[in-house]
Amino acid sequence: MNSQSVVAKFGGTSVADYTSMYRCAQIINDDPTVKVVVVSASAGVTNHLVELVQQKANHEERLALVEAVMQIQHRILEHVTLDSDLQTGFEETYLEFKEVALLPALSTQQCDEVLSFGERFSSFIFTQVLRTLGVNSVRFDVRNILKTDSSFSKATPDIEATAVAAAKHLAPLLDNHVVVTQGFIGSDKYGQTTTLGRGGSDYSAALIAEAIDAGSVQIWTDVVGIFSTDPRLCTKAKPIPRLSFDEAAEMATFGAKVLHPATILPASRKGISVFVGSSKAPDQGGTWIEKETQTQSGIRAVTQRKNQILLTLKSPEMLLASGFLAKIFTILSNYNISVDLVTTSEISVALTLDNAPNASRPELEQACLDELGEFCHVSVENNLTLVAMIGSEIQLKGGDDCLVDVLSEFDIRLICHGASRHNLCFLVEQASSDQVVQAIHQKLLEAA
Ligand code: ASP
Ligand code: MG
Repeated sequence: MNSQSVVAKFGGTSVADYTSMYRCAQIINDDPTVKVVVVSASAGVTNHLVELVQQKANHEERLALVEAVMQIQHRILEHVTLDSDLQTGFEETYLEFKEVALLPALSTQQCDEVLSFGERFSSFIFTQVLRTLGVNSVRFDVRNILKTDSSFSKATPDIEATAVAAAKHLAPLLDNHVVVTQGFIGSDKYGQTTTLGRGGSDYSAALIAEAIDAGSVQIWTDVVGIFSTDPRLCTKAKPIPRLSFDEAAEMATFGAKVLHPATILPASRKGISVFVGSSKAPDQGGTWIEKETQTQSGIRAVTQRKNQILLTLKSPEMLLASGFLAKIFTILSNYNISVDLVTTSEISVALTLDNAPNASRPELEQACLDELGEFCHVSVENNLTLVAMIGSEIQLKGGDDCLVDVLSEFDIRLICHGASRHNLCFLVEQASSDQVVQAIHQKLLEAA
């Protein structure tokens, strides 16, 4: 594929209803460089699917959830009629969905199967909406190319296998079609459906761009780019026109909800620029994330991530011993747990994990705590928020905005700085975190 081609991804709110889908289709119609379109499930659908896989619903409730998912599709289909190739596929997919979603118990593999239907449905409909504008679009099942391991609910992509499969199955379609495919889902080497974790469609788009050697990825969402903080919290928050890969990765990881954190990985591996903009206001510009940016030193944004778990592990044996951290991280990695912040003292280590309320699987399982408990004392604290200041060449001291002074006003539970000059992170009580973010934004980012 030539490196001018574009992969465009539309998130759940961008494909929530017919009007939104039509607007997105116009963006594609106006831009002949877009070769692949990656869609999320229509807004609300994945949350219903998550309820199904949590397996707390009885049969009646499961029927109602299936009905709720289908209602979202049918409301869009009131405005557009599927061509027969798409109609047949849609009906088959519905039957598959009903069959697995109503099973009394689901294996972890079947959970991923259930979670996959939102994207599978929306991609049929979006293909048709593009066709109504005269775009020669074809629906493609991403499971044929996006290969992953078998860690259901949070699968790790196999970059090489994906590139090989994309060259074989996807590339030949790109000369004559706009290909519409699904975000969030993939398949393992046995052909079983897997998912990449909540919000994973952004990551899918970047992985596909990497696999076909695209020049850029467009992430179309409902905000005009990445802001200096959440604009709902600070009215003076400003969109950031350019970010480096490093800055964007930190922002996505530490709470700017606009982008799935892993998206930057494939993009920076291949130097693919990422654009984040609003499908409702495509002319208003957005944020460009690129390899080369004129790095402006200092803080550029403040983000927060609520629902953090702080895990403190204490062992007198750690004193002068080696291997304690290795043991802890081996266990966490066996449970596929990703750790964000880490601080250590002589006999203890504290680390933070994400506990997103809508995750398809809880981050910290009791079995993991039990295993850790076999060799150290474990304590778990909840209701914490991770606040992150992000930028370049961040220094604690110096200038007019001495960070030490700013921070001294807050009740900080844990603080991390130094592993990179791109962030300074700390934990505060969740109840006070909005005010902390507002105060930091006002002091450091609203100056004229
Ligand atoms: N539909 C999935 C979710 O809601 C993936 C995505 O939209 O990125 O998490
Ligand atoms: Mg998203």
